Amino acid sequence: MKSIGIAGAGFSGAIIANELAQAGYKVAVFEPRSHIAGNCFSARDALSGVMVHKYGPHIFHTDKEHVWRYVNQLSVFKPYVNRVKANAGGKIYSLPINLHTINQFFGKAMSPTEAAEFIRQQADNSIAEPETFEQQAMKFVGEALYRAFFAGYTQKQWGLSPTELPASILKRLPLRFNYDDNYFNHQFQGMPEHGYTPLVEKLLDHPNITVHLETKLSRAKCADFDHVFWSGPLDAYFDFSLGHLPYRTLEFKEIRASGDYQGTAVINYCDPEILYTRISEHKHFAPWEQHADTVCFAEYSRQATQDDEPYYPVRLVNDKQLLSDYVALAQQEQAITFVGRLGTYRYLDMDVTIDEALQTAKTFLQTQAAKQAM
Ligand code: UDP
Repeated sequence: MKSIGIAGAGFSGAIIANELAQAGYKVAVFEPRSHIAGNCFSARDALSGVMVHKYGPHIFHTDKEHVWRYVNQLSVFKPYVNRVKANAGGKIYSLPINLHTINQFFGKAMSPTEAAEFIRQQADNSIAEPETFEQQAMKFVGEALYRAFFAGYTQKQWGLSPTELPASILKRLPLRFNYDDNYFNHQFQGMPEHGYTPLVEKLLDHPNITVHLETKLSRAKCADFDHVFWSGPLDAYFDFSLGHLPYRTLEFKEIRASGDYQGTAVINYCDPEILYTRISEHKHFAPWEQHADTVCFAEYSRQATQDDEPYYPVRLVNDKQLLSDYVALAQQEQAITFVGRLGTYRYLDMDVTIDEALQTAKTFLQTQAAKQAM
């Protein structure tokens, strides 16, 4: 029987471990942190009893029906629609930018058609193919909305000017000329009833899987396995030999109160003078639960050092060389597959991560079966 090593016990690592264990492989999972579930880790707050997403809010949303079915086998998902508010210039607006936001911001009462025409006039239509975040924003919503909602927030979130960031970051967000304030366009959306950790626990609970917490899988130790799936940072596998790929990390400032602190799950703070990007009040992510007290987290984003938890890969418009060099090194590795947000250095949503992990396991099993048949 072949032995498999997996670096990381987040969704990528746990899904691959589970698929391969079911196929009869012995799998050893190595996780540097003291817990499983990666950045999806959730746990109850001891004081309030509120389920807290320890590494910031994770809302499950997808258009992939097979992924939705897959996660629903792992947990009951409760209906949840993410409705985010924005604090800009000391006023509260609806997000993502929709007809309510446009009418609030410009003090008007436009119809969908009028608003679409109005925004078309605001937008910079001279930009044919936006490359940067700023170009995308100027073409998408025009200068006034860009300055109010995106310029300051993006500078705080990424520590860079929107002129250096790729247009793809903004393409994640919808613009609507109706009153739909669902933050996501996806068909399926929900929250796991008891947080994300039990889903990963269930995946790793198999007699063929051993989990080693607080243990790093070193590059040298990878040789003990027939194959390794690496969901840790791509540059860490190569001992940072070419340099460090840049990441943003988050710091959270806890706010405790009784009752309801802000009346909703997420408020973004778009003004540059306010140093945090958003405040999340986690009890509102589980509206089916009742808690007398509340706990919130203000998020501060900064450049990650080697000792910090990496969150967001920073892909600059004009700086892809280091990543390409690491990808070239990774392609030379025969017995290692790089997976997930950190292993492939991409800004991935949970559903994409899950889909890719399932596909990776399937491809691996098919390749092994084909080899055996030869
Ligand atoms: N963004 C912004 N203002 C907002 C919300 C988002 O400028 O109020 C920008 C910001 O650059 C962010 C990107 O849009 O990184 C994508 O937003 P999303 O809400 O998807 O970010 P995430 O929740 O993944 O951090």
